Amino acid sequence: MNKRSSFLFFVLVVATIVAHFLRNNLLFLTFLIAIIFFYLVEEKWIKKELSRISDALLQLRNRENYEKFVLVPYDPFVKVKNQLNNLFEESNFLFETESEIMSSLRDTLNLLHIPVFIMNKKGRVLIANGSCSALKKENVKCENCFYYEYFYSLELMDLIAESLDRNVDNREVRVGGRIYKANSFHRKLNSEREVVIFVLNDITEQVEKEIMEREFISAVSHELKTPLSVISGVLDILKEEQLTESEKMEFIKRMESNVSRMNGLARELLILTEIRHRENIAKARINLKDCIVSILDAEKHFVKEYGFSLHLNLEDVWILGDSFLVKEMIKNIVENALKYSKGSEVLISLKKGDFAEISIKDNGVGIDEADVEHIFEPFYRLEHSRSRKGGGTGLGLTIAKRVAELHKGHITVRSTRGKGIEFIIQMPFIEN
Ligand code: ADP
Repeated sequence: MNKRSSFLFFVLVVATIVAHFLRNNLLFLTFLIAIIFFYLVEEKWIKKELSRISDALLQLRNRENYEKFVLVPYDPFVKVKNQLNNLFEESNFLFETESEIMSSLRDTLNLLHIPVFIMNKKGRVLIANGSCSALKKENVKCENCFYYEYFYSLELMDLIAESLDRNVDNREVRVGGRIYKANSFHRKLNSEREVVIFVLNDITEQVEKEIMEREFISAVSHELKTPLSVISGVLDILKEEQLTESEKMEFIKRMESNVSRMNGLARELLILTEIRHRENIAKARINLKDCIVSILDAEKHFVKEYGFSLHLNLEDVWILGDSFLVKEMIKNIVENALKYSKGSEVLISLKKGDFAEISIKDNGVGIDEADVEHIFEPFYRLEHSRSRKGGGTGLGLTIAKRVAELHKGHITVRSTRGKGIEFIIQMPFIEN
């Protein structure tokens, strides 16, 4: 009740009492009705004002736009309304500053190429950078929804739920075929507000590389173990058994072949280790024709021994590169053609098209199309080569592929099982 209405109320009460003492019933009744009417109007007005104040508080809570209270003198709520107006002004300033900070934080986070998002303690996502788009549900656009409405992976959701209670430390999580390392931190903004910062590091390539390295090392140990156990077995026999000279010779030959197998393996391992993670190569001028001819010259005992019919069609083509590695690449493929097509035909051609193109084609055992993608993997050998006496290491084509890549080229394979195989090496050429 404001001062004016309090005064009016007081006057009405006094007038009612005076009318009562004057025994003027009509006046008494009139003033009494006026008091009741006054009370009802006043109550309604108070209720209305209280509801306006409560609406304003709700708007403040929801950060909605607010229409300032017009302050009327003698209004009993004037102090509350005044405080509310001040509060709104201050919080508007704070909200604007906060939204500016949030938008520049979002811009900064967007520069990061790893998913980062910030939630409040209840799990509402306040900011999520662009890299999070790979992790979120397709139809979800808004931030400011809860993490379980935003992300789709159950595994990730479990981890986020955990992060709301305690920091998550270097935990692996798989989302959509990728592997991430997750970390989260709690940060207090002020005495009341706390946020959770969640960071995901994509470690898929790193993990795959580690797995490959582990597999590679275990394959190397396995490859070394086999000849070593043969040699140690043969040594035991030579030490303990009474053998004839020819039997001894037989065992020594077996040792020799295993030693040479280990030698070959060590040599190829050295080359592969050297080029595996290399990005650059020496750039010397290489005449591919000379290169092929010198390789065939070194293999001529083989060609003669098995009576190959060798067809050559070689143009003069030059490339820039590492001549040792290029020779190694061609030699591995030519040796395979000779090894796996004993006694048949081998065609080698060299020409210039969009690329320098070397084709090495045999009509030997060939391989299934499904095996084509695997033969370049380290130590991958098919049945026909595993069973061969003195078969290769399974590293030759791995080296060849890497060398082609280092020369900005590639190798394609056309093969039919039982009919032979053609390897086509393509690399950029230079003018003669
Ligand atoms: P390897 O030292 O065993 O020859 P490579 O890496 O050179 O190893 O070749 C991988 C596998 O690919 C071989 O073990 C063989 O099974 C298959 N291969 C390669 N070249 C030929 C070919 N010309 N004909 C049939 N199979 C081949």
